[in-house]
Amino acid sequence: MKHVGVMGFIHESNTFAVTPTTYKHFEQVSLTRGRGLIERWTGGNHELSGFLDGAESNGIEPVPLVAAFAMPSGTIVRETFDAIADEAVEALKAALPVDGLYLALHGATVSEEFPDADGEMARRMREVVGPDVPVVMTLDLHANVSPKMVASTDATTIYRSNPHLDQKARGLEAASLLGRTLRGEIRPVQALECPPLIISIAKQYTDEDPAKGLYEDLESVLQWPGILSASVAMGFSYSDVEEFGASFLAVADRDQDLARKAARWMAQRAWDRREEFQADLPTAAEAVAMAMRAPEAPVVLMDIGDNVGGGSPGDSTIVLAEIVAQKASDAMVVLFDAESVARCVQAGVRNPVRLEVGAKTDGRHGSPVSIQGRVRMISDGIFQEPEVRHGGWGSFDQGVTAVVETPEQHTLVLTSVKMAPVSLEQVKSLGIKPESKKILVAKGVIAPRAAYNPVAARTILVDTPGATCVNPASFTYHHRRRPLYPLETEAQYPSSGQ
Ligand SMILES: [Zn+2]
Repeated sequence: MKHVGVMGFIHESNTFAVTPTTYKHFEQVSLTRGRGLIERWTGGNHELSGFLDGAESNGIEPVPLVAAFAMPSGTIVRETFDAIADEAVEALKAALPVDGLYLALHGATVSEEFPDADGEMARRMREVVGPDVPVVMTLDLHANVSPKMVASTDATTIYRSNPHLDQKARGLEAASLLGRTLRGEIRPVQALECPPLIISIAKQYTDEDPAKGLYEDLESVLQWPGILSASVAMGFSYSDVEEFGASFLAVADRDQDLARKAARWMAQRAWDRREEFQADLPTAAEAVAMAMRAPEAPVVLMDIGDNVGGGSPGDSTIVLAEIVAQKASDAMVVLFDAESVARCVQAGVRNPVRLEVGAKTDGRHGSPVSIQGRVRMISDGIFQEPEVRHGGWGSFDQGVTAVVETPEQHTLVLTSVKMAPVSLEQVKSLGIKPESKKILVAKGVIAPRAAYNPVAARTILVDTPGATCVNPASFTYHHRRRPLYPLETEAQYPSSGQ
């Protein structure tokens, strides 16, 4: 058996979000080391699970180092990055000699000191093992991939599904790439191509065009002789970093030119369709009116500006305020609002409450909305999801949770921990039947679809303001590369220097 270090460091950093990410945010979600890492991740749907599950058949004995995960939120503070990186480096040094290394990173992780935190982490880990030990990395589809990440690793594979349902498959692929490399069957080399292109977050649903076409191209590259793997990273527009944008990556067996040719071919094909990757969506007022007129139900309104999975606070009231203003009825809205939960607990179940819900994190996500209703339930907020869902997680904790029913038949779910809507068990575990509501508000774009598609009669993406607003032009970037289409329409690919 070959000894392979296993390390995970996953955070989607929204540099426009106001709440910085600290060590306690990792402790709250998942921070495991040594045996605890193996116990936590074996047998799940995450890429770490895929790698661990695929290790033995590839002749790999995993050497667990550290795995740190936090909810998407603001930039990671300097001390927290240092603490996690130092622990990973020390654990790797203590495990030497290793035959290989597996890094489960995100690709859109930003710390105060290192805008390319993934690249810095990969660099430090590479430094410990030296140039000759193979290093395989997995990344999230929302990665902003940098040359530094690619220079520090031998092979990279990136989720191909959004919502992310193939994480385990990518972990298995990483184990296979590493196993074959360690047996001397292959020698992977990789190439990264970054056309000056933004793919709107609203156009990143891989089951539908235009995104679907990117993966058809990817599949055809996989058929090229000598190609070992191929990836598309659609980018993360809420990280203000130089490498923000779409990127294309190919891994070939020993042939650098072949890898480069494959990456460029995919990039060129995407660039030629660049206009299709831009979005024009209804406002909250338009979307609520559309939902009220719709003959079918429920209509899911995706509140893009308050995308919890993209680092938003999860307490925006912009859509709720429209629902109230337009006198819509029978809507379900989930809000992160610990203060209102405490008031409901104080009032007690079956009792009336008056609340000012939501919009408590910052001034960019609406104002608190006055609600009168009745406390139907107080729950511990813990729920399990048996199916494969975006993120690869199975157990969830949204903190003490209150369900409030209003005379307008609205169901408000108030949580004390913010939670991305990736599982319908989030509300079904509270006795709510989402399929019988008229309007469901989900705070995300694509990630909720695996959960909500089975009940949604119709899904409307909504252009709401906020820390995850759909339109990159609404943000002031200081660090991104220029030009980038469509912010700079004069962008060219290949650029004149290529
Ligand atoms: Zn993602």
